Amino acid sequence: MNHCIACGMPMMRAEDHALSDTSKEYCKHCARPDGSMRSYDEAVVGMTQWMVRTQGIDAEVAKQMAVETLKSLPAWKSTAT
Ligand SMILES: [Zn+2]
Repeated sequence: MNHCIACGMPMMRAEDHALSDTSKEYCKHCARPDGSMRSYDEAVVGMTQWMVRTQGIDAEVAKQMAVETLKSLPAWKSTAT
């Protein structure tokens, strides 16, 4: 099983991949409409909003958690500070 390199989500089916293309290493949530991978800043915003929405935590706290989580993922290891 593959995990998305940009958010860590398990990708179990072809349609979980960007554009349903199993050769892509990132998931549909991390892809822009044109199929390219979103930027680090977009990933931080996306994950922050997702945590606020699903866990009801404060946006500032969620952002810190998003940055911490993204740091450990292959797509951002060299990007994140
Ligand atoms: Zn993803």
